[in-house]
Amino acid sequence: MSRLIRAIIDTHALRANLETVRQRAPGTHVMAVVKANAYGHGLVPTALALADADAFAVARLEEGLSLRAAGIDRPIVLLEGVLTREQLLEAARHGFDLVVHDPLQVELLEGFSNAHRFVLWVKIDTGMNRLGFRPTEFPQAFERLQKLRPAPLEIRLMTHLARADAPDGTMTRQQIARFVNLTRHLVCATSIANSAAVLIGAGIQCEWVRPGLALYGVSPFADRTGPDFNLQPVMTLEASVIATRRVPQGETVGYDGIWKAERDSTIAIVTAGYGDGLPRNLPNGTPVLIGGRRAPLVGRVSMDMIAVDVTDLPPVHVGMSVTLWGKDLPVEEIARHAGTIPYELLCGVSQRVPHELR
Ligand SMILES: *Cc1c(COP(=O)(O)O)cnc(C)c1O
Repeated sequence: MSRLIRAIIDTHALRANLETVRQRAPGTHVMAVVKANAYGHGLVPTALALADADAFAVARLEEGLSLRAAGIDRPIVLLEGVLTREQLLEAARHGFDLVVHDPLQVELLEGFSNAHRFVLWVKIDTGMNRLGFRPTEFPQAFERLQKLRPAPLEIRLMTHLARADAPDGTMTRQQIARFVNLTRHLVCATSIANSAAVLIGAGIQCEWVRPGLALYGVSPFADRTGPDFNLQPVMTLEASVIATRRVPQGETVGYDGIWKAERDSTIAIVTAGYGDGLPRNLPNGTPVLIGGRRAPLVGRVSMDMIAVDVTDLPPVHVGMSVTLWGKDLPVEEIARHAGTIPYELLCGVSQRVPHELR
């Protein structure tokens, strides 16, 4: 039975994108970022498809636990680290690698009487002003971590870029320069690059890169799409036509009457709404694909449905499948219509949407 809505996940594309990232950052280790349910693609199936990655990165402990429960034994990095003793114990028990970004976490490690030796990623704030030690605080934090007993298995150094997707690379160059200045005399593995940096070749001299979005086949740059970088979109969000109707000229469609038929029109009702993760602010004219042809969304996005003007298409029937984004309809383009970024659309696909692996 064809479902009313589904997110089709192309696992071959995931693997191909990992390969493309490796080609763009040759000789580096790839930490595949699978936080936020693998950007809406399904945490465990995505990690299983990317089993060749050198490590996985998640934001939170619970995400790491889900990966271990699924039998994934690769290194798993907790990007936000841990905040309590209980979490630290769990992290030790499951062999997670920890980002250390705050003096409180250093203290926690100093007070931890446990034989486990962690891999620690010390995060330096080079301008993002979110997480990490400021350049002035970093040397002291680093020294304290070096004195931990038992000694950490390894101390590595990282920073995160605030504007790697910006056409003007000034800030990225500044951040990289700050990081290199602070770390070049230290014998530690390092990591700077997110997807945008990998794709522009910034920070790929480090031992590790940390791509997320690129692995899902999507471009972080507003004016480009994944295929421009030889990346293949992994998720195709597909719904179905549940009804069609004639709407006479002059009548409106949907809540609030924000779209009025300028001519006698044929409208298809499609089974996707904000309850599935479509933004309610998608405007009139946002494209969908029906039978391989583009047609514009008309009227408000409802919880479970949208309306599409199919007047100019060959006959549309109940049961036909409709692509909201994915192959042949870039999520980057839909994000522009919604006034957001593809990250938010992908992460926003809601729990009731089943994933189908291909
Ligand atoms: C989310 C995240 C990434 C991945 O970013 P993309 O833009 O999706 O490649 C890398 N590093 C850190 C610290 C992150 O939080």
